[in-house]
Amino acid sequence: MTIPVVMPTYARYDLAFERGEGAWLYTVDGRRFLDFGSGIAVTALGHAHPKLVKALQDQAAKVWHTSNLYHIPGQKRVAELLVANSFADTVFFCNSGAEANEGAIKMSRKFHQSRGSDRYRTMVCVNAFHGRTLATIAAGGQAKHLSGFAPMVQGFDHVPFGNLNEARAAITGETAAILVEPVQGEGGITAASADYLRGLRQMADEFGLLLMFDEVQTGIGRTGKLYAHQWADITPDIVTTAKGLGGGFPVGAILATEQAASAMAAGTHGTTYGGNPLAMACAEAVLTEVLSAGFLDGVNATAHTLWDGLRALANRYPTVISDVRGMGLMIGLKAVADGGNGVLVKELMERGMLTVPAGDNVVRLLPPLIVGEAEITLALQTLDAACAAIAQGTA
Ligand SMILES: *Cc1c(COP(=O)(O)O)cnc(C)c1O
Repeated sequence: MTIPVVMPTYARYDLAFERGEGAWLYTVDGRRFLDFGSGIAVTALGHAHPKLVKALQDQAAKVWHTSNLYHIPGQKRVAELLVANSFADTVFFCNSGAEANEGAIKMSRKFHQSRGSDRYRTMVCVNAFHGRTLATIAAGGQAKHLSGFAPMVQGFDHVPFGNLNEARAAITGETAAILVEPVQGEGGITAASADYLRGLRQMADEFGLLLMFDEVQTGIGRTGKLYAHQWADITPDIVTTAKGLGGGFPVGAILATEQAASAMAAGTHGTTYGGNPLAMACAEAVLTEVLSAGFLDGVNATAHTLWDGLRALANRYPTVISDVRGMGLMIGLKAVADGGNGVLVKELMERGMLTVPAGDNVVRLLPPLIVGEAEITLALQTLDAACAAIAQGTA
């Protein structure tokens, strides 16, 4: 056998971690790394947060799983937190971002078909990322994710991100919904303007479409509000959330208005694990912390400091970094050289700092929301050293 026992679908970095604490990860051989990737925007409260550890341990000693054949008290508590702090009236719990998006797409079809309409198509954006299931790779529409997996799931129309005229022109009598990331994550940390999101809301109203935001990466305080669309002060019909929601425990959710969910009667959708007591204990602890007084103010203050430092860095190294973009603590550094994002990620890693590459030659900075001032300073110093080495050709 030459195939590894772990199926080699990832080109992994040669690092393995044994434990973490706050913004730090420690390898099995004792080296420490400043974690500015947060497991791809997942460990929102950092590693081994005492309140999360306690919530999971307490629940683990009680009951792990019962199935959704019975009431799960934790689901009601987490749903109440989400409903009280968002546009939503109701929540469906699942296990991942892709599963949340699949469910949202299903909901938009069901919404229209239950009203006797045959609308089923979802308008999505070029360069989007919505997950790796058959429907969500079709929604993302990226050749590198679709290749070899034909036939493609039907029902997705791609329009350029940020362009309202093209979106309007693409609407047909079969369009059921619009699905957009408020900040494109995997695509390269491209933030939609508030005007664009508001324009989509108006368009959805005018044509009777459901407006769905994929906030799998942008949600749970990542941009400085619980959900990124809240900066635009608009009310979507459906929002999908996952990544940060469990702080590292797998969990996802679909948030919806009463109207958007009106056709989701018993038996219409389901999941075995979704919203199990362990996941709900973690999500409740994460949300309680993120929604506590001053927490999001702290995220915005931290983001402000980091952005200032990154703009100065980009000015110092114009041959290395061409752009600083994103929102809050979801930041992209666009590299100048071809493949420069991979080089910068590697240079940072060699200096003890973890970041994540994204599309469009971008390095993603996704620190835990609890990252401290000293760690921001250290990250900026490490970035400076890495950029200096690249600029001087000594990388
Ligand atoms: C990560 C991500 C997904 C997929 O989430 P999984 O939990 O990996 O299925 C979907 N949409 C966006 C915007 C994401 O960033």
